[in-house]
Amino acid sequence: MKEIFNVAVIGAGVVGCAIARELSKYNLKTVVLEKGSDVCSGASKANSGVVHAGFNNKVNSLKAKFCVQGNEIFEQLCRELGVPYKKTGKLVIAQSDDDIKELENLMDAGLKNGVKGLSIVDRKSLKLMEPGVEGVAALYSPNSAITSPYLLTIAYAENAAMNGVKFKFNSEVTGIDEKNGYFKIYHNGGYTQAELIVNSAGCYADKIAGMIGYTDYRIYPCRGEYVLVDKRWSHLLTRMIYHVPPKDKSVLGVHITPTVEGPILLGPTADFIDDREDTSTTMPGINQIIEEARKILPSLPAHDSITAFSGIRAKNKSKEEGGLGDYIIENRKHSHFINLIGIESPGLTASTPLAKHVTKMISEVVKLNIKEDFNPIRPAPIRLAELSHEQRAELIRREPLYGEIICRCEHVSKKEVLDAYNNILGVKTLSGLKYRARVMMGRCQGGFCTAKIVSILRNDLKKSYTEIQLKNPGSNLFTGKVREEDTDNVKRD
Ligand SMILES: Cc1cc2nc3c(=O)[nH]c(=O)nc-3n(C[C@H](O)[C@H](O)[C@H](O)COP(=O)(O)OP(=O)(O)OC[C@H]3O[C@@H](n4cnc5c(N)ncnc54)[C@H](O)[C@@H]3O)c2cc1C
Repeated sequence: MKEIFNVAVIGAGVVGCAIARELSKYNLKTVVLEKGSDVCSGASKANSGVVHAGFNNKVNSLKAKFCVQGNEIFEQLCRELGVPYKKTGKLVIAQSDDDIKELENLMDAGLKNGVKGLSIVDRKSLKLMEPGVEGVAALYSPNSAITSPYLLTIAYAENAAMNGVKFKFNSEVTGIDEKNGYFKIYHNGGYTQAELIVNSAGCYADKIAGMIGYTDYRIYPCRGEYVLVDKRWSHLLTRMIYHVPPKDKSVLGVHITPTVEGPILLGPTADFIDDREDTSTTMPGINQIIEEARKILPSLPAHDSITAFSGIRAKNKSKEEGGLGDYIIENRKHSHFINLIGIESPGLTASTPLAKHVTKMISEVVKLNIKEDFNPIRPAPIRLAELSHEQRAELIRREPLYGEIICRCEHVSKKEVLDAYNNILGVKTLSGLKYRARVMMGRCQGGFCTAKIVSILRNDLKKSYTEIQLKNPGSNLFTGKVREEDTDNVKRD
């Protein structure tokens, strides 16, 4: 008889993977079904990467509660999972005396939400903290931090897999039946059976809920575009710099964020759109970002962006309703079907508290037994670029493949590419290598290293050209013979 899982999590974004990791602490058979070819195929790969403190969220909301809890545990979480974390602090800038009232409102909400360390600084102190920033005063939040959203998602998933969770990629859920006390979940490549479903499908959570009869949920996609500025400008700021939030308060507005990798992130915009897949970037969006960012950091170069991208917020309130709802997490109609609807910002910050909340809901209907040998530690992969010259030399002496540089922009070695390829989740795409090893992510965006990576896949890993995919099935990098066929002596396809 086909296996029946105790829990199926639909969606391998940061929240689905956090839930999977939390569930892996118990003796359960858990599976994660993901329509993409890797984790982080939705909002979790394209956001600001900010570990929010919790002063932007409505007092007494679930968002505020989980954000404050998430902020408090984030550093320890990143330590356990080998994920970068930097407590840069954040400044919300008042550009006029009117804005100062808004800073006071934010501070008041923050204090009520239990955010620690907030203060309002005057122009002189602001200049000392961030000399390039223009403003008359600022709200300073020392506990706001930055992380890598995709490395965190990968780490959650890897740690869950280490502890027994199964991941099924390229498995888009298309229908759900319930019979004899368990669900039959239809997806590409067949079906999966489970006693309980956690619907963590982000922008598609309303569609998944609709499969078992919920008709009252609706997701309103809201796109946020970003521009990434080359890391040689990273000296321009040390903290995150935000405008006071726009009047409608449904988003935080364009901000300037240092990233853990070095480049400066500008954005996001906010546009309600119809197509949940439309992650395009637009000239008006990019112009708006540059213009708004320069109002607070005038020296910001407009010409030195290395890429632009966008992410889609899964809002549960429409533009007409003001766009700002609280998280909906409920098993209203069916105790064994938990829906997470509208998990927009601060979903990254709140991912572990959200996961603990869902686990508690599960414990009310399924007996959970602690797994004695759960291992919370997922070791950080070695990053050559982060080591001193002496450490690099020692590493290369032990393993010469660390001495072969594949990505010149980010200083990624061949050994790191091979380690990324051998990930525990079994992801073999170019995009999977990009997010794990940082190849194709630097200034040239893959211009130099893509050919070298293809050569590794061909020569070291014996892949045929037609097996090399960017991400989802059908995204083949090659469709036929290419020039390398005539210039090297590798086995022909
Ligand atoms: C522009 C922007 C900026 C943000 N900034 C921040 C920030 O700085 N800090 C912060 O804390 N939060 C931030 N957020 C919020 C945060 O990114 C999200 O709350 C979080 O990523 C949501 O994670 P998720 O797992 O719920 O959704 P997702 O990451 O979208 O994951 C859902 C997954 O479900 C899969 N899926 C969908 N349909 C199906 C199906 N039928 N079958 C199988 N799988 C399916 C998708 O492929 C996807 O991988 C931001 C969000 C956006 C968009």
